[in-house]
Amino acid sequence: MVVVMGMARSGLAVSRLLREEGFDVLASDVLTDPPLAGEFERDGIPSETGGHSMDAMRRASEIVVSPGVPLGIAPLEDARRRGTPVVSELEVASRYLQGDVVAITGSNGKTTTTALTGRILSAGERPVQVGGNIGPPASAMVAASGAETINVIEVSSFQLDGVRTFRPDVGVLLNVTPDHMDRYTSFETYRESKLRVFANQTAEDHAVVNRDDGNVFPLPADIRSRRAPFSRGRPLDAVAWVADGQLVLEGTPVMPLSRLPLRGAHNVENVLAALVVGGIYGIAESAAAAAIASFRPFEHRLETVATVDGVEFVNDSKATNMDSAVKALESFSTPVIVILGGQDKGGSPAALVEAMKGRVRRAVLIGAAADRFETAIGGAVPSRRAASMTEALDLAVESARPGDVVLLAPACASFDMYADYAARGNDFKDAVRSYTKSRA
Ligand code: ADP
Repeated sequence: MVVVMGMARSGLAVSRLLREEGFDVLASDVLTDPPLAGEFERDGIPSETGGHSMDAMRRASEIVVSPGVPLGIAPLEDARRRGTPVVSELEVASRYLQGDVVAITGSNGKTTTTALTGRILSAGERPVQVGGNIGPPASAMVAASGAETINVIEVSSFQLDGVRTFRPDVGVLLNVTPDHMDRYTSFETYRESKLRVFANQTAEDHAVVNRDDGNVFPLPADIRSRRAPFSRGRPLDAVAWVADGQLVLEGTPVMPLSRLPLRGAHNVENVLAALVVGGIYGIAESAAAAAIASFRPFEHRLETVATVDGVEFVNDSKATNMDSAVKALESFSTPVIVILGGQDKGGSPAALVEAMKGRVRRAVLIGAAADRFETAIGGAVPSRRAASMTEALDLAVESARPGDVVLLAPACASFDMYADYAARGNDFKDAVRSYTKSRA
């Protein structure tokens, strides 16, 4: 019997897959009433809720953990001691996925790069499906996969923590910066978990890596993958780079940076990574350029909400860690009023404060981490505190001048005030809309 721990989306998908493959499955959740319990019941998947029973754990031949379940909890420690394999949903899915797998990971930029890569590959002959964190869980991609399919999968570090044999044909590592420091014992452990995307690769497989990130490149010597580095500079060993304002793939100019529909240097890295994958699959540069040019940024990622009286309002609620907020600030050359704060995920705010200097006219601090940011900012830039998003917007507007940007880039998780980052972004957008109306 296989125990599936965590009765959310990926737990449901992997339970269905395992049943399809002929396994007995027991789904298990600590919640007494997990939101998808009804779906499990409708599918006739046995489950236990309100905790993981010792009996189930003992009977399990394998335990599949959902990304939300910390691997250090007692029932899993026990299981490992008994020699029961503990794996992630991605590991199980990868046993059955047919065709190629392109796995995209990194601290930031995964969703954007996964979608871009899917677009570029779709310009070729082979069928492409996109999933993982961004869409259907990998387990739900199995049924539609065939020998020719290219499966493009957004992969989180939590999924990688539970892989044993997972071996993508192409692994992409965009960057490693402190994130989820509340779940990992150290930055090095977190980095190791990201590097696991390459652990089972051989010299036939590709490692697409950010040449400019010292935590990514050079890869440890024991990783056997064929290296395919990309860079915003022009190192000799890069496969894709930037020269004279153009994106270049293996010496061929692809398109000018001015045609990119995405803002910020960090997005140049995402595009370069996607281009390299396109190159591996033989997509023509012109087709790749067309796919990139028609790409539209996702909601909550440097999304322009409105421009009122010359002030642009930008929603980057998905900036849930320090580095993504730094990258958001660095995307603007005009003065910024930044709204930040939320539930702290650990990691030092020093680089963020550095990025604020000379750029931020006022910082408006919200949520549980407001104290920590207030201390970190000291007198570096003027700051104010707000108890709600509406108040935050009022304080932002008060100090904004024509030409400025009001940016929501929280550098934190949202769970102290919201259900998720999308709810936070929507609250910001609602506040901006009310303000827009009041000015009409
Ligand atoms: P992920 O799926 O890894 O969270 P997203 O594409 O959803 O990545 O972007 C998350 C946040 O990080 C957004 O705020 C976005 O503006 C920012 N971001 C996107 N790409 C990068 C990158 N390469 N480096 C740093 N920050 C990035």
